[in-house]
Amino acid sequence: MMNEDVSKVLIDEEVIVRRVGTVAEKILLDFTGEEILVVGILKGALVFMADLCRRLPVPLQIETLNVASYHGGTQSSGVVEFLDGKSLDVAGRQVLLIDDILDTGRTLRAVKDSLLEMGARKVKTAVLLSKVKERAEEVNADYVGFEIGDEFVVGYGLDYQGRYRNLPYVGVLKEEVYETKG
Ligand code: 5GP
Ligand code: MG
Repeated sequence: MMNEDVSKVLIDEEVIVRRVGTVAEKILLDFTGEEILVVGILKGALVFMADLCRRLPVPLQIETLNVASYHGGTQSSGVVEFLDGKSLDVAGRQVLLIDDILDTGRTLRAVKDSLLEMGARKVKTAVLLSKVKERAEEVNADYVGFEIGDEFVVGYGLDYQGRYRNLPYVGVLKEEVYETKG
């Protein structure tokens, strides 16, 4: 059943499930040999990361990073803040960096650069969604679930003011939700 705050389902559950399987197959072709270090950007990547990892039947470890670029609204602030220090042990590792969505590209660019600075041997990036638009940063994800238009979406990990992450699909909220809760 559709959430009453959602005006439109953009990508439904079954389509996501199938696509996650396909993305996992591509990843498995690129990561061979030693263990993968999967790094998910909190909190948006949680749902995608959980589903994707279960389609990667190889040795891997999971880490998370707390980064903020949005502050509750629907526009990117342009500043990427590392919230709990950069203390991941990534030296010499092959890393799969996961985020929910590629918008301006600032988050993925900043996090990928710091992982490389911390000594990661290789960093590949996976996003569930990529907005088709001009990027503020020169960055593209290596694995993209779906390309979408430049509109604000929620569900499957993506939130609006902390809510709607648990929707099993990706959708768009009704205008009045932003007017009354925004
Ligand atoms: P970027 O740094 O690429 O501008 O933004 C990436 C982050 O902004 C994502 O991890 C996500 O948290 C947030 N974001 C960007 N676009 C959307 C959107 O359409 N919906 C939601 N819920 N978050 C978004
Ligand atoms: Mg986010």
